[in-house]
Amino acid sequence: MDCYTYRSPIELSLDELNGDIRELEVQVESAKVHLTGIQEKYCNAPPRAFGNGKQCGNCHLRLDHTSRQCRIEKCLTSQQCGDVSKHPEEKSILESASEHLKKLEKQLREKTLDLEMKQKAANSVKNSFTQRVRGYLINSNKDKYLLRTSDGKFVPRSGIVNTDIAKLEKYFNGKIPTDIAQAASTFQTIISTFDTTAGLRNRHQNPARHLLEQHAVRFPPTAALGRPPERQIDNRSKNIDVV
Ligand SMILES: [Zn+2]
Ligand SMILES: [Zn+2]
Repeated sequence: MDCYTYRSPIELSLDELNGDIRELEVQVESAKVHLTGIQEKYCNAPPRAFGNGKQCGNCHLRLDHTSRQCRIEKCLTSQQCGDVSKHPEEKSILESASEHLKKLEKQLREKTLDLEMKQKAANSVKNSFTQRVRGYLINSNKDKYLLRTSDGKFVPRSGIVNTDIAKLEKYFNGKIPTDIAQAASTFQTIISTFDTTAGLRNRHQNPARHLLEQHAVRFPPTAALGRPPERQIDNRSKNIDVV
């Protein structure tokens, strides 16, 4: 879990889009190179090959003779005559390379637009305390906040995450710390201090329950009575139950 960094679904979807876009940019570049290569090959025959007169259907030169009068060898490729319209196979290679490039460019435009819109939406959400702090909090104590599912993925324990965010929000008076990365190193201390003071305040009501609930240990009110609190607290990292 140490090398794992929690990313929110929004961040993941932005990451994925960024990855797609980078990949598409590479594909567009290589499709351009490919198309240019084909154009140079088929469309760049020396101009002298054209002549100025009527074009012959056999040799494809413009020497003012018809194919019936033609004494020149049949033109087999536009690499000779530079007139790709007279060579359907080569024309279609050229067209499909050009279409492929256009398709990729269209995908790139769409993905870029999608990214811009998602980024905008994410930014407006991110202004809230919860959204800004959440990822940092989770990564400040992954054992506490993440649950590993059977397929090896990590899922945040939303109950305890939200409980602790509420504490931080209270501590910071709802103001997002300027340097969140820096502040994140103090999150766990703030939360445990908060827990201790709140725990003392509530002691007359229920000595163990408050602490346990902060650690997302769920237990029915009656079952909790008579259990030594220490045991329950020790179990928190093993995560008996997730709220
Ligand atoms: Zn000819
Ligand atoms: Zn030709």
